[in-house]
Amino acid sequence: MTAAYDIVQVASLGQVFDDRLAAHYRVLQTWHSPQGMMAYPEALQGVRVAVTSVRYGFTRAMFDALPALKAVCSWGVGHDTLDLQAAAQRHVEVSTTPDVLDDCVADLAWALLLSAARRTAVGDRYVKAGQWRELGQFPLATKVSGKRLGVLGLGRIGEAIARRASGFEMEVRYHNRTPRAQAPYGYEASLVDLAVWADFLVVACVGGPSTRHLVNASVIRALGPQGILVNIARGSVVDQAALIAALREGELGGAGLDVLEQEPASATEFAALDQVSLMPHVGSATRETRAAMADLVWDNVVAFMQSGRLLTPVMREQTP
Ligand code: NAP
Repeated sequence: MTAAYDIVQVASLGQVFDDRLAAHYRVLQTWHSPQGMMAYPEALQGVRVAVTSVRYGFTRAMFDALPALKAVCSWGVGHDTLDLQAAAQRHVEVSTTPDVLDDCVADLAWALLLSAARRTAVGDRYVKAGQWRELGQFPLATKVSGKRLGVLGLGRIGEAIARRASGFEMEVRYHNRTPRAQAPYGYEASLVDLAVWADFLVVACVGGPSTRHLVNASVIRALGPQGILVNIARGSVVDQAALIAALREGELGGAGLDVLEQEPASATEFAALDQVSLMPHVGSATRETRAAMADLVWDNVVAFMQSGRLLTPVMREQTP
């Protein structure tokens, strides 16, 4: 039987991308259905390429429902929601959208660091609520320039964060599982030692089970009452209960978080914590970067349809 569709698109990547894909290929769009692609078992039989997003993910059950699948093109850079083990077992290639979002995620890490240290979000509320006039002088904050920056996960985004530190005349050290040969920064083999050394610790490593609660109570305590923790990676990397307890007890100075353990979150437990700046997981969310990410998904799809090769496959060594 001839395949009715070449591509299944399980998540919308914006009207421009969705229309462009549908205009060039036989695309089954499934995000309108409450059961997603599982609502169309017959139509999936000949599908060779799946398009998804890191937020929507791609599960083993989805791989199993697509017997002819050869490639998954995902929008976003994390692959904690993509079942790479199932992909490897099925010899299905998976691409993400690396590099094009590094600058924006790094910019947001610095925005959160500056906001937590200099209390810009609190100051904004202070002025708008008329407290400047009522209460006068705003409380003193924490100096940023010249301090020590620790980076957990000196990958593409971690490196972009570290590069920006030179403008703040900061020394940078990092912790990965393995030191980077060409990195111009000091390596700390122990995350606790990095936290003891650093004034600010920015989390930029991968998410998923291998890094769950890597930033635990010991790391948070090592960062200390003047220290600031920034997380732009995944909420799962930080033990959020330990973080909140440390902030309440004054064992940690502050935090800037783009990601939380439960998303989307009402995050009421942070409401009374003025020393924390929060953002709703928007590291890459600028018009320019989101367009570049959609373009890279498109380029991967076209490359695969023409040559059977993806442009930005997930690295083999990251595949379990
Ligand atoms: P990457 O280039 O693959 O870098 C990941 C880094 O994590 C590597 O340096 C790796 O070094 C380190 N790492 C992995 N496992 C580790 C462990 N157990 N302990 C210590 N370090 C570990 O990835 P990237 O492109 O920079 O992206 C990093 C993460 O940022 C993504 O996985 C994603 O979760 C997150 N992200 C968030 C947003 C947002 O909107 N907030 C946007 C994009 C990405 P070793 O392999 O040597 O350990």
